[in-house]
Amino acid sequence: MSEHPLLRVDGLHVNYGKSHILHGVSLTVNAGEVVCLLGRNGAGKTTTIKGIMGLAQRMDGQIEIAGRNATRMPPHSIARLGVGYVPEGRKIFPDLTVEENLTVPAARPGRWNIPEVYKFFPRLHERRRHAGGQLSGGEQEMLAVARALITNPDLFIMDEPSQGLAPKIVQEIYHLIREMADSGISILLAEQNAFMALEVSNRAYVIDNGKIVHEGPAQALLNDRERVRALAGAAA
Ligand code: ATP
Repeated sequence: MSEHPLLRVDGLHVNYGKSHILHGVSLTVNAGEVVCLLGRNGAGKTTTIKGIMGLAQRMDGQIEIAGRNATRMPPHSIARLGVGYVPEGRKIFPDLTVEENLTVPAARPGRWNIPEVYKFFPRLHERRRHAGGQLSGGEQEMLAVARALITNPDLFIMDEPSQGLAPKIVQEIYHLIREMADSGISILLAEQNAFMALEVSNRAYVIDNGKIVHEGPAQALLNDRERVRALAGAAA
């Protein structure tokens, strides 16, 4: 493992207005790792990710990305450090075509460009002239992933990619996550769908009530499914 993790979050506190939601969250993602952040509904997964991305009010703590102090950086500066963000609920532009959605992000140079992304997601190529809002949930998730991929991120941060998708589509999305991981992209994956996420992850954190209550190798949790259910409320 390198001395500097790609992402280091240390003692992060986040508020929504006067509500104190995160109470000192610490986690790391090393280069080449897939790390999942598990937890039941309302545990603080999205808030952690929004705190990292500069989309929620950080009250205390430190964030380091690729060795740079990102504690006070706004979202666009975080993106420039090589972070691709796939938000919960996709948040694609419904009135723009698929192709227009893909031209919005500021691309960093690298392997991924529109033709490469279409090779990876043939379905998006077929639908390239359709409005984002006309796509199915699974296609919208692919578009959200493609839009982040095109920025050639070193670190991918994905918030509940399986949310609201049929099991077969979830399998497809996870297949893509595995392919991205195999291509060397590091991933932080927030999921309620704990067992799916553990299958593709090297390490796992579990958050509850805004605090990390467990961290360790993903395999150890996969071998102890009862523990996962107790910690993260995961469905069988
Ligand atoms: P989910 O799977 O439902 O997305 P989560 O683990 O991502 O769950 P968060 O969305 O981070 O959970 O929510 C953590 C806590 O913060 C919850 O108690 C939630 O009610 C609260 N919360 C979330 N968004 C806001 C907001 N905009 N204003 C006030 N409280 C909020």
